[in-house]
Parts: sequence; structure tokens; C-alpha cells
Amino acid sequence: MNSRLQQQLFISVITAFGPSLICTAEVNKVETVAPDVYFHEGDLGRRGHCNNGWIVFEDYVLVVDGNFPSGAQEVIPKIKAITNKPIRFAFDTHHHGDHAYGNQVWVENGATPVAHTGVIDEMKKYETGYYGNTPGRWEDAAKGRPDVAKSKLKPPTLLFRNEMIFDDGKHRVELHHFGVAHTHGDGFAWLPKERILFTGDACVNGPYNYMGDGNSEQWIKTLQAAQKLGAKTICPGHGPTGGPEVLEDQIAYFVSLRNEVKKVADKKPEEVKAAVDQIKETLRKNERIARYIGAFFPAQVEKVYVEMGGKPFQTASVTIEDDKLHADSHGRTLAVKPSSDKVLLSIPRSTR
Ligand SMILES: [Zn+2]
Repeated sequence: MNSRLQQQLFISVITAFGPSLICTAEVNKVETVAPDVYFHEGDLGRRGHCNNGWIVFEDYVLVVDGNFPSGAQEVIPKIKAITNKPIRFAFDTHHHGDHAYGNQVWVENGATPVAHTGVIDEMKKYETGYYGNTPGRWEDAAKGRPDVAKSKLKPPTLLFRNEMIFDDGKHRVELHHFGVAHTHGDGFAWLPKERILFTGDACVNGPYNYMGDGNSEQWIKTLQAAQKLGAKTICPGHGPTGGPEVLEDQIAYFVSLRNEVKKVADKKPEEVKAAVDQIKETLRKNERIARYIGAFFPAQVEKVYVEMGGKPFQTASVTIEDDKLHADSHGRTLAVKPSSDKVLLSIPRSTR
């Protein structure tokens, strides 16, 4: 399935279920997390935007996450309203469009995109249009997003393998890679003085876990490594900020999900598929992780089952094509109903 459809599905799902699942009060508002440290919860439901952060150093601004082009355009004036220091660096927490497709906009505003080397590896895998072959995810996204169509892919050019440090004596930001999680190139931004951790989509606060490009077993280990930093404040990739419990709950969600799927791992795909609702209800009983259950749930069960050696639930190419045609004919207003597991199951086969 192409990324445009996937994006439409994701956005439609979030829009459809949003009011009950998303704390929207702070969306598009600048939150001061600490002196010179800011957080901005992106409008995911309507515009597909990720969260952003920025740190005002003595001589420049470091931004966390590239967002979509329209997301970058949304926050740049807000940054400029706070400081006249130049925006020098934009850190992509990973390669996904809603975190990295705005890079060109940051470059046009004087910033250099920064990322873990794994982001380039992932882009080489999925951004086949840029790297010289057939159209890839960018081209798919451009079909459905005018902001992407008007911009161009700009892979990060300042790269780190394990960590990169920004420190002017007053502020210190450490970019870390702790291993595979949401993707194979996740980076965290850690502020040791303020004990603030920007996690990208390795940790979210709400039903936003797209698992298609990662690995759930390693994801838990990566989050546990990040947990050792001892963060007081978590600024997630999607959803509102919170305390250390956000990281704890995100880990607990994946641990519980894996435990439940393991119980049915030797069953047939159709049996596991039939057990999805039961697994969901089991997890929902734990109030600390219930908020992570959302429209992606069947896809998450399938992903973990496949990681444990199972086969995908179904070959969905025909239904995906049908859905795609339907989506195209409705522009960006593809309707996704909670009961439509045909659509929901098709989500992880593509990009996010
Ligand atoms: Zn992502």
C-alpha cells in the first residue's frame, strides 16, 4: 500500500477517534518546558503534524524534528516570536515523513538537518525516488499533500553514530541512538540539566504506535536504555508531554502486547486475527496502558505475531486497491470505521 493511502488512513483514523483519545487542548500551542526549552504538540488529526521541540542556545536554536513542510512552516514563526537567534539545526528523530519531510524548509531558513546515520539507511531503503530508482514514499506522500509536492526531500547532512553533543555551558543537549525501536534510526534528544527527554516516535503518549518499520523486542530494550537516563519530563513524538510514567507506560504496553501475542504465537493467522479483540480487552484492563490501544491495534498484533514467526493475516492487496480507489475518489476524507478491520489491518503494510 502506498504511503499516501497509509497517511490518509492514519489521519482519518486519528480524526475519527480523535475527540475521545487525544488531549487536544494544547495542540498548536507553545509550551515552555524549562527556561529556553519549548515543546509544541503538532496537529496530527487535521494536518498529520508531529510534535516539535526547540532549545534556545546562546548563539542559535536547535529544533527537535523536521515535521512535514507545513508543520515546519507552522512552528518557524512561533520560534521567531520567542527569539531572534538563528535556527541552525533541525534534528530528525527518524526518517518518517511527518518528522523529516520538512527538512528543506528548515534549510531554506538557515538550518542544517541532523540525524542518526540510520535515518540515511532507512531513506535509502524507502526513498527510492530520491536515490535514483522508482518513486518511493516521498512521491506517494506528494500525491496527497500539497506541502510535500511543493517541497523536496532533503536527507539530513550532519550525522552521528552513537551521540552528538551541543553544549554552550548554559545548555546541553545530547543526541543519542540506543538501538532499533520505531525504526532503525531513532534518535533521542536528552537535556541532562533539565532532565528532559525528547523521544520522537520511539515513545508516544496515546494510540499512535506505528510498528511497521521497527521491531517490538528491540524497541523495549531501546526504551529501557533511554529510561536509564532518568528523565523527569518526556516530550513524545505524538501526544502531550508527561512525566517518567509516559516512558514506563509505553514500555508496559509493548511488554503486555508481546506477552499476549506470545500466548497465541503458534496458532494459525486466522485464529490470531480472530483473537485480536480478546487481546485488546485483556490489555484494556490495565489502565496504565489502555490509552495506547487504538485503530492500529490489529496491525500491532499482526506485526508482533509475524516477528514471532507467524504469517501475515491475509493477502490484502485486493482490498487495499479497493480502499485506495475509494480513498482517491474522496480526496482526504477517507472514512475509516472502528469495525473496518479490513482497512485497519492494511495500515502496517506501508509507511508511517
Ligand atoms: Zn514515525
